Amino acid sequence: MPYIVVIFFFLFGLCAGSFLNVLICRLPLGESAAAGRSKCVSCGRTIAKYDLVPVLSYFILRGRCRSCGARISPRYPFVEILTGLLFALLAIFRKDIFSAALFSLFAAALVAVAFIDFRHRIVPNGIVVFMLIIGAALTVFGKDMPRSERIIGLFCASVPLFVLSLIVPGSMGMGDVKLMAAGGLILGWKIVLFSFITGSVIAAAAGLFVAGKSRDGLRASIPFAPFLSAAMIFGLFFGEAATDWYLRLLLR
Ligand SMILES: [Zn+2]
Repeated sequence: MPYIVVIFFFLFGLCAGSFLNVLICRLPLGESAAAGRSKCVSCGRTIAKYDLVPVLSYFILRGRCRSCGARISPRYPFVEILTGLLFALLAIFRKDIFSAALFSLFAAALVAVAFIDFRHRIVPNGIVVFMLIIGAALTVFGKDMPRSERIIGLFCASVPLFVLSLIVPGSMGMGDVKLMAAGGLILGWKIVLFSFITGSVIAAAAGLFVAGKSRDGLRASIPFAPFLSAAMIFGLFFGEAATDWYLRLLLR
């Protein structure tokens, strides 16, 4: 893709990241993302328009609120830069602008899910529906894989997770099941299985590590969706290469 498009994707990603910060704060509280401008969590003062520029405002204000001086979480510029980079990289990696745009929106949704589930242990239904709409558009108009691969993807990771949640009650949230269904529709069965296995292995390792440190032992649980989300973002870039390599290894 031409440089100008990549730069446009980067700038659009910075703004999308700024919007994700609002979602991450408001969705778990049941507030509307459109309900007025953001307020300082410390002093409650509405944040001025000129202090809402992604990344730049944080550094100009040196990470503090303009009116009360309370520290602003470094999560804000981090999410903005991360989303900007993901958008730019997808513009570079993807061959057509249509799939680059839809995969960028998917990556943004995954960033929101990762942060919200990490803090609140929920995967908001609104984000799942948003992903399903992206998946439906890719299934109908996408030319990167046969339609059947996306339809199989809808079930191939979500159904095993759902069965596991029935066998071991409390092991798995329905949020994780829905996340893997929507992710599978977007990524297709090969990449979603790759992401699912990668995410589960890393989550299991992290779970054992936390269990070893915590007084609750193995009962100490960790949120699963951030691992699944990170693995699906990884899969967006490297899933195809990794699954091709693996399938060739198997068939040799
Ligand atoms: Zn303040």
